[in-house]
Amino acid sequence: MIQDDSMNQAGPIGGVAPDRVGSARPGVPAAVAQTGFGFSVGTTLPDQPGRTGSISTPHGPIATPAFIVVGTRASVRAVAPRDLVELGAQAVLANAYHLYLQPGPELVEQAGGLAAFMGWNGPTMTDSGGFQVLSLGAGFKKVLAMDTAGLANDDVIAPGKDRLARVDDDGVTFKSHRDGSRHRFTPEVSMRIQHQLGADVIFAFDECTTLMNSRAYQERSLERTEAWAQRCLAEHARLTEERVERPYQGLFGVVQGAQHEDLRRRAASRLAALTADGLSFDGFGIGGALEKENLGQICRWVTDELPGHKPRHLLGIAEPEDIFAGVEAGADTFDCVNPSRTARNGAIYTRTGRYNVDTLANRRAFEPLEPDCDCSTCAQHSRAYLHHLVKSKELLFYTLATIHNERFTVRLVDDIRHSIEGGFFADFRDDFLGRYLPGRRPR
Ligand SMILES: [Zn+2]
Repeated sequence: MIQDDSMNQAGPIGGVAPDRVGSARPGVPAAVAQTGFGFSVGTTLPDQPGRTGSISTPHGPIATPAFIVVGTRASVRAVAPRDLVELGAQAVLANAYHLYLQPGPELVEQAGGLAAFMGWNGPTMTDSGGFQVLSLGAGFKKVLAMDTAGLANDDVIAPGKDRLARVDDDGVTFKSHRDGSRHRFTPEVSMRIQHQLGADVIFAFDECTTLMNSRAYQERSLERTEAWAQRCLAEHARLTEERVERPYQGLFGVVQGAQHEDLRRRAASRLAALTADGLSFDGFGIGGALEKENLGQICRWVTDELPGHKPRHLLGIAEPEDIFAGVEAGADTFDCVNPSRTARNGAIYTRTGRYNVDTLANRRAFEPLEPDCDCSTCAQHSRAYLHHLVKSKELLFYTLATIHNERFTVRLVDDIRHSIEGGFFADFRDDFLGRYLPGRRPR
């Protein structure tokens, strides 16, 4: 069984140390002593819900706000776990849908859980698979972030094509994007898979809607997601009892409700009140379709309704201006594939915005990707070298560019955390966003 607490480079903020299941230590909150999982709030922003904190997990602490790097298939593409340690990543988020299809949750369990399987000595999270089941199975991913002004359509799912995923009140039946084989996820199935994968933070199975869905559909979907949340909590309680020898896994409920204030608030307050066999959600995810201009407002509606002593994770967000908005509104952790995905497309994040390293201007640029970046790529390599690698289609390009972009994002959120601790968040935000030219909308 994996119980390695050596991944500790960030250090706890609130004095809460990672702990093992069932042990009690002086000064450690009761919930942490019982389960190895907990959260403590550190410094709060004046007149805002934003705060620093520390999430305790059986595999070590996460100092928050934190950017969680995405390793969908138990791998951050092209980057070894030892490089993730070096670039300061505190935790990795993998995906239950992908690991269910390959290599299968039983195998990951046999390996000692997700962290041991991938050789990562730190906290892990798994996304429930709900988003992937629906988006990969149904092909609506592309419309999640589109400008949908004036559009309302409950049948955006694969228009004119085979419908690969079908939602009913009990779960989702879908075809694998790999081989077309048929599968079914229910809240209970997702919980069993995520218990086998063994991540420290797992998410309730939810239906992720799009901005194109009608208000009536959003309401129906939210009822369904709430019923699924209750079933997830009950199955989580049952599995936790059954697998008491395993490290405790924190279960986060996911707040949906799209752009509607009443739906978001209702979803958040109802999820916060759910219990099953004495367990309640350990934290909350804020998910679903978010228009960029409303992101901070939507987060604020949600965090208004959530209990302050539990962590909140903003799903699928990595653009700097979105992270600032999320932090101010009280989000504690973030994840997104964008830093690695954009790196593989040749786009480099810097504190003044993104640029493409494959342009002619970089052919003879012998300076680092970003002059004051402290990543291993910038310490050793030039833009000209990366320009050459991408033009030559060398695999090393993916590694070096991804290390830079992941470090950029991790460091930005670390700097935000330090600015809250130091009482200069507003100055740091204004200075950063004053120089940063926003990129395109992520995901
Ligand atoms: Zn760099």
